[in-house]
Amino acid sequence: MALGVLDLFSIGIGPSSSHTVGPMRAAVRFVRELEAAGLLGRVEAIRVGLYGSLGATGIGHGSDSAVLAGLSGLEPETLDPDSVGPLVAEVREKGTLHLGGRMSVPFDAQTDLTLHLRESLPGHPNGMRISAEVDGGLIERECYSVGGGFVVTAEELAAEKEAAEAIDTVADDRDGHGRDGDAIEFSTADELVAQCRAHQLSIAELMAVNERQRQDDELLRKQLLDIWAVMRECVHNGCTRTETTLPGGLKVGRRAPQLRSTLEAAEYRASGSLDALEWVNLYALAVNEENASGGRIVTAPTNGAAGIIPAVLHYMDRFVIGDGPGCEGAVDDDAPGDPGAASDDAVVEFLLTAGAIGILFKRNASISGAEVGCQGEVGSACAMAAAGLCAVLGGTPEQVENAAEIGLEHNLGLTCDPVGGLVQVPCIERNAIASVKAINAARLAMHGDGSHRVSLDQAIETMRQTGADMKSKYKETSRGGLAVNVVEC
Ligand code: SF4
Repeated sequence: MALGVLDLFSIGIGPSSSHTVGPMRAAVRFVRELEAAGLLGRVEAIRVGLYGSLGATGIGHGSDSAVLAGLSGLEPETLDPDSVGPLVAEVREKGTLHLGGRMSVPFDAQTDLTLHLRESLPGHPNGMRISAEVDGGLIERECYSVGGGFVVTAEELAAEKEAAEAIDTVADDRDGHGRDGDAIEFSTADELVAQCRAHQLSIAELMAVNERQRQDDELLRKQLLDIWAVMRECVHNGCTRTETTLPGGLKVGRRAPQLRSTLEAAEYRASGSLDALEWVNLYALAVNEENASGGRIVTAPTNGAAGIIPAVLHYMDRFVIGDGPGCEGAVDDDAPGDPGAASDDAVVEFLLTAGAIGILFKRNASISGAEVGCQGEVGSACAMAAAGLCAVLGGTPEQVENAAEIGLEHNLGLTCDPVGGLVQVPCIERNAIASVKAINAARLAMHGDGSHRVSLDQAIETMRQTGADMKSKYKETSRGGLAVNVVEC
């Protein structure tokens, strides 16, 4: 399998995986390549062009700052989110870039970094060109941020498309059964379920077999629990911020801190019996408000949709496993009363299952809002969360596939139209709504036996086709939908 679970969940910063994390990684990679070729010390100038959706909404998504940070050697996994603003301000003020954190080159942010508002590159809606002048010659790289923080060069993209076509050609010929110790291959949901049946494995167990090609079980478990710890910390941070307004000029208020106070107030009583739902809303809002403010985030599978899986995991941890409401954050796993300690096994099962579903989306359609609209971001995350929860609730592979299908089906056609190019409206609230939808999808699937009319593969293919038909103004360009009907002020 080309993709692993940790490709679907990575630690980075907000507000966007494709528009912030991806461009930063592309810049880091370019500088590393110069360094590996022994050229870093001979660079005379650097220029960057952002195209397509990156050009159209790059400012609102912080793509320009991300590129400057990446060229300066900062990486999304390890940087201090608070360090980006001052670094970018310094580059703009001094007209100098500290390339790879190693050497200074002149850099005019007005002319050396260009956002092409109406021009696209051929490979993907999120295109970039980075070039360096070295010894009077030009070294240029064309690359694409294809969603979820993934970055590929033009050459890699072409090779990937070729390989995917080759896999489609041979898919019917292979027996589909992995040997002991080998990866168990699947490229569709039908194949995934069939492989689970053939090997008598759950989806999470099958994924664990495949992950052994990359790392041992212990390391995988640690990495997944680290992801969970960052998710919990993110929820905690979002619930405890004192700033009231999100950055970007839209004047969108943070809701999570106030909602948390309300829910924790002794006198608060929800009308009806939907307490858990209110907390799920809180968890999702907290994560996406952190994302909107450039905070530390787990891309899951994108940043715009980063609140859904943490919200549903918190629901599982608090209301299914049973520690009750709260948002204490990533405290020591051994601490008395730690909300996560009892549920580590369930977290691992959840993330492995969700990862398997995410691979199907990435393999057979897209998780990029710029490519297929918000159905690819929020729809994918909703399906992944529904699948993860269903597995933890005891669902069979068939029921898990059903849960994922329900989670996607009712997000089909969802457009991407962020107001002001910011990942705030409709994104933040949309995550809360989709989190509740994911829980409902898992519960609906648990009431059936896994047999259902629309398969997950059919829903994913429908998403792909719908995305292909969707006008570009609904694909992360902020030229249609809410983006043109909501007045920015
Ligand atoms: S509308 Fe959806 S796809 Fe578009 S930026 Fe917001 S969350 Fe991402």
